[in-house]
Amino acid sequence: MTPAQPGLPRRIGRAAWLGLRGLFDFCLLAWRRRFLRGERLRRYQQRQARRLVRYAVEHSPFYRDLYSGRSLDDLAGLPTVDKQIMMDRFSDFNTAGLDKEELIEFALAMEHSRDFLHYFRERYVVGLSSGTSGSKGLVLTERSLAERLPAVFLARSGVPLRLLPFRIVFILRVHNQAFANIDSPLITLRYLHSMTPVERIVDEINGLRANLLLAPPSVLRLIGAQADRIREPLKLLMCYAEVLGDDDDAAIRQAFGAPLIQLYQASEGLIGSSCSAGRLHVNEDLVLLEALDEHGQPAPPGTPCHKLLVTNLYNRLQPLIRYQLNDLLVLGQGCPCGSGFRVIERVLGRSDDLFWLERSDGSGHQYLFPDITARYVMNACELVREYQVEQTAYDRVVVRLVTLPGRFAEAAPLVEQSLRRLLDEYGCRQPAIEVVEQPPQLNPHSQKLRRIARSFAHPDSPK
Ligand SMILES: [Zn+2]
Repeated sequence: MTPAQPGLPRRIGRAAWLGLRGLFDFCLLAWRRRFLRGERLRRYQQRQARRLVRYAVEHSPFYRDLYSGRSLDDLAGLPTVDKQIMMDRFSDFNTAGLDKEELIEFALAMEHSRDFLHYFRERYVVGLSSGTSGSKGLVLTERSLAERLPAVFLARSGVPLRLLPFRIVFILRVHNQAFANIDSPLITLRYLHSMTPVERIVDEINGLRANLLLAPPSVLRLIGAQADRIREPLKLLMCYAEVLGDDDDAAIRQAFGAPLIQLYQASEGLIGSSCSAGRLHVNEDLVLLEALDEHGQPAPPGTPCHKLLVTNLYNRLQPLIRYQLNDLLVLGQGCPCGSGFRVIERVLGRSDDLFWLERSDGSGHQYLFPDITARYVMNACELVREYQVEQTAYDRVVVRLVTLPGRFAEAAPLVEQSLRRLLDEYGCRQPAIEVVEQPPQLNPHSQKLRRIARSFAHPDSPK
């Protein structure tokens, strides 16, 4: 049970308070994306980043050591960190002196009891991000900051104010505290865990007469199969937590007959979200994103980055400063919506899902970006409903397909040929390709759907 804010009546007072603050955040965030640009934006980011760096040095023994003897004003000159480094020294890394083992014990106990209603020391939200390889990462957020997440999501969704009052069903995948439901005149919000049976989710949507549905793409597809049971049509859908493939995008829009907006949310922060023109923008006021080429210089728009660093400008509890993300992307040029925030042209997928194949001339290994592989499967024929391509060894690829009824035998060779064409174009030695009639499988560690996945270790990524 969450305590009431001081001076406010219990429960209803708190829910109304959350609604009011949500509206304030909504307006502020909408204003920033519309008007913060150019030199003013750059100064804003530098100021926020410098504050964060100073705070980290004062409160985190890890950063104090790491930055000792360096100029704190030159952000680009500061050393980078990654998940391994962070987890190795987590007790020193966070700025509240919280003990890593205690936090993990707390998070695991919640997971086992499936009771996510508690806060660590009544103040902190503790999440465990299970990486695709199974190495767990801790995600710490101040409770007061976590409660503002829905307003941030909404502000960055491009959701038009004419949809007020917002009646929202919000489905979270991560094992995390159940955030407080919101009941206020303008925003009503219900949280559900993604393990909730689809029938119950639909009942909640009907009970609330929801007009907005927020869920990961794979969950939206499941609900979409029962969309005819939803009594009042949803006005807008939002997805996050998984890469949204073009085929998912089309299938979800068709099932619900509603527009779909993508948020690019990682446990490291809300990195990007789409605008009214349907393009994905970097949330420049929330994160400082550095997309770097192989020489460590900013990757020009239109070219895939080889390293992605994020500085989360608002989480001081667990300062992520020049923290290396697993994702790879391509930045684009300006957008008709008029925002000065950079455009993300494509999210290419995770760097640990790059395929690595032997080059046919024997000169080492060649990588393939996940989105290219996906495109070659989708373009192979019109018979494929669901797919997953998994590289299980340098010389072995498994393709799982669900096709239109009775058309697997026809589709399988077309998909295989298309993939072999791709591998030829990139000068790769042809691996064994096994095509099986089987639905995609969730990653056993993260429980996420990765349509293009690599399940063996390759020693170097494209740095
Ligand atoms: Zn835009």
